Parts: sequence; structure tokens; C-alpha cells
Amino acid sequence: MATRPDKHQSGTQVHPPPPSGAGQAASSSSAADAVQVVSVSKSYGHRTHRVDALQDVTASFARGTLTAVMGLSGCGKSTLLQCAAGLDKPTAGSVHIGGTDLTRLSRRKLSVFRRERVGFVFQALNLVPTLSVAENIALPLRLDGRHVDHKRVREVAGQVGIADQLRRLPDTLSGGQRQRVAIARALIADPWVIFADEPTAALDPYISDAVLDLLRRAVDELHQTVVLVTHAPNVAAWADRVLLLHHGRLAGVRESPDPAGLAGDLRRLGAGQVAGNA
Ligand code: ADP
Repeated sequence: MATRPDKHQSGTQVHPPPPSGAGQAASSSSAADAVQVVSVSKSYGHRTHRVDALQDVTASFARGTLTAVMGLSGCGKSTLLQCAAGLDKPTAGSVHIGGTDLTRLSRRKLSVFRRERVGFVFQALNLVPTLSVAENIALPLRLDGRHVDHKRVREVAGQVGIADQLRRLPDTLSGGQRQRVAIARALIADPWVIFADEPTAALDPYISDAVLDLLRRAVDELHQTVVLVTHAPNVAAWADRVLLLHHGRLAGVRESPDPAGLAGDLRRLGAGQVAGNA
């Protein structure tokens, strides 16, 4: 099992977030970015009961990197992931994946785009209980009307270590094995980016590390781009870079994160000592 978090040197710095605004984001945009969120705000409810879940968040996610979005409960992590993945529409701002502005797509085109270009790994795995492991892995291709290459299904299953489980039903697998199926399903269509929302929250620490190791290898060996949402420093420490959210705003960016430094960041956020300009 990999021990990625321990490989990082301690003493890394939290940087304040870059200034927001469409002009800034456009000037800092790069072809190397898989995903960009530009001045994204998201509010729920009406005037009297309005929740500003995200406020003017601008961030880029470079290709071939693992980025974690971390912060205290309710800070807007899941909302940011939902908006960045095109599962929810921002109230303001724009989201770009591989150069396509998702906020300008019709509902139908957005749905096709997500199927073709985006992979998802959620805590609630959404595996179909009546389908075998192989059928679950191939599901994104089938839903998209694409040919299912069984050799490719076996190859991806092998990459996540479940090649010998292909005929089984999800309910007969352990939690860790089910999460491997979910990762294989996210990888099968070779998406431009994989979004993972608390993918290890329901797993015990040993299995959790194995699943994070898989996501890490998808980045390092398959050159995937992964955006991971978590509240846990030991999970976020697997990332190349951690975005810290606080009250819906980007509060800081930690490069080469380590668990102790991230735990300190969370403590400071909880105490209201926010890094950067939030
Ligand atoms: P996190 O993932 O960091 O725990 P969320 O993104 O789930 O935070 O939520 C951010 C804020 O937005 C919270 O105050 C939450 O209650 C609120 N929120 C999230 N989704 C909805 C919704 N569908 N309707 C109303 N409020 C919501």
C-alpha cells in the first residue's frame, strides 16, 4: 500500500487564494487546466431564507493532478463539486471543462457532456445491485450508446484490482471492493476529469488508504485528473494541492500538503483565523 501522505515534507505553506474575478481567471487560464471555475457563486432558497453556499470562487484544476477541496462541514465543498461537475448550475459565474463552458449548455447537451467527459465516484456508490461488476463498470458506455469493449472492461478492472470479481453482484462485495468498482466505472470512458465526493468516508482506514492509492495511481500512471472533496486532513494529504474553503469562499491553497499542516489549517478555520483574504 502506498504511503503518500508521509512522503510530503512538513512545513509547506498555505498561500492566500488568487484574486477572483473573470478577468483574472481568464488571464490565468491555461490549456493545461482540465477544469476552471470562474467567479462561481451558488445560493439556495429565497431572499428571507437564502444560503450563500459559494461566493465568488475562482479556481483551476490542472490536468494530470489530484486536487482536494477541504474545509469544515457546511463550507460549500459538495456544492463546489456539484457545480464544477455540471450536476448543479451556479447562480453566477462559469465552469469550463476542457474548454467547454458548461453553464452555456442546454440541459440535454450537459447531460451528454457529463456522460462522455466526466467520471464520478461518490460515497453513496450508486452501483446497480442487479448488474454484475462487469456490467456496472460498462454502464457509462452503455448509457452513452457506445460499444462495450470487454477487453477494456477487464483491463480497467485489473487496474483497480477486481479483475477476478467481474461476475459478482455488488451486494456480495465488501465496501472497499464496491468502491473499486465505482472507480473502475469512473475510469472506463477515459474521462477528462473524475470528481470524487468523500469517496472513503464509509470505509475503514486501511481500505480507505487502498482506495486513495488507486485514485493517486489514476493520476500518476494513467494521467487522469481527479478533484476530491473531503473534510479529513489524512485524505486531503494524498492530493498534490488542497483548496481550503470557508463559508463558501476560497480561503487558501496548500501545495504539497501534509496531514499535520492540514489539521492545523482546519483548526485555524474553526477558530476564524482564515488564511489569505477571506
Ligand atoms: P459541505 O459539503 O462543505 O458540507 P455543502 O456544499 O453541502 O457543504 O453546503 C454548503 C451550504 O449550503 C450549507 O449551509 C448547506 O446547508 C447549504 N445547502 C447545500 N445544499 C442545499 C440545498 N439543496 N438547499 C438549501 N441549502 C443547501
